[in-house]
Amino acid sequence: MMKLYRYVGPEEIRQRAVGRTPGFRVESVPALAQWFRALLPESKEEDVIGVTFVVDEEGWLRVADRRSEHVACAEGRLVFSAGEMFFDCSESAPRVVEVSNHSTGFCPEPESWPAVAAALDRIPLDHPGRFTREVVFRRCLKCGQRNLVKDKWFVCGMCQAELPKIWNF
Ligand SMILES: [Zn+2]
Repeated sequence: MMKLYRYVGPEEIRQRAVGRTPGFRVESVPALAQWFRALLPESKEEDVIGVTFVVDEEGWLRVADRRSEHVACAEGRLVFSAGEMFFDCSESAPRVVEVSNHSTGFCPEPESWPAVAAALDRIPLDHPGRFTREVVFRRCLKCGQRNLVKDKWFVCGMCQAELPKIWNF
């Protein structure tokens, strides 16, 4: 049973996302290639393109322009994972070359990878078989700040309090 994540970011960002175009649900490789052409009509063929992604409640990959908030991409709903994905678009079929769970809106765990793999396999898209960059998120129990833990340094960047060793959103 895979875990669903709810939005844990600022309320004003959630409010701003209401009514925005949700992420594009990727159901086939040609559909994704077409989406990229519409997104970046002038991009050079060798471009590696980064996007915002979520895995929605139905297990589908949804992608959006990289400037989009994850909560808008997800239409404010629950997700199985979220982060950033980079595609090599130099050939007719886009290929996933980098993927991370970097989403400060949902703060998903690195353990959410199987949901991402399942969503990519379903399309099907080749992928690296893991998050190429894993992000560890913790909420500070003292000040409430959402932290990215770097180099296993479990200390709040805002108030210097010690952060929990276990995921806590
Ligand atoms: Zn703190």
